[in-house]
Amino acid sequence: MPKTEDYLALDGAINEAFQASLTPWEAFRLLQSGHERFLNHLTHRRSRGNLLADAAAGQYPYAAVLGCIDSRVPVEEVFDAAFGDMFVARVAGNTVSNDILGSLEYACKYAGAKLILVLGHTKCGAVQGAWSKLVDGHITGLLEHIAPAVEATQAERGTDPTEENLHACVAANVHHTVEEIRMRSVILAEMETDGRIAIVGGLYDVSSGQVEFVDVPQGVEV
Ligand SMILES: [Zn+2]
Repeated sequence: MPKTEDYLALDGAINEAFQASLTPWEAFRLLQSGHERFLNHLTHRRSRGNLLADAAAGQYPYAAVLGCIDSRVPVEEVFDAAFGDMFVARVAGNTVSNDILGSLEYACKYAGAKLILVLGHTKCGAVQGAWSKLVDGHITGLLEHIAPAVEATQAERGTDPTEENLHACVAANVHHTVEEIRMRSVILAEMETDGRIAIVGGLYDVSSGQVEFVDVPQGVEV
């Protein structure tokens, strides 16, 4: 993986030339290789001083991740990412709103990120809340974003809140969010069609620390 080797050769933040050289699927490989380093306890150490100095001068991240706020899913750590590597938007249930879409549009169109990852996870409290139709304060509106995944999953599997059913709902919610990004953001849909970005999903297991990549087009190695 030559791009990963180039990345590992950096002793500071990603620079403009490196970001520009990446295709969306090379960015995906970079994300996968970062996750492999995390799983294998092979954290890539770079000079903090160099990272700060480089990133302060300009940011050229390779990816944008939309994750859940859950304390057990530290996004940068899971992908062995450093300062300047990735945008991370986090909201309970990893769903989209206009503000999240605007954030992802900025990350890709104006800051050059090549890949969007929607990252759900096992034992997601937001998905469990949506499943049981929790109504309370601002949580009610938040969980409405997850309702389409809950409805689809319950129609197929029933309303029993088993671990398997909730995990199926987590996966359905990631898939729904990926589709929402394409349907609601003209900018990101065009960038994906033109091959300037890729959009994929991931399911993080809070027990094993492992990410299963989903919603990846056929023919792309995961
Ligand atoms: Zn969650």
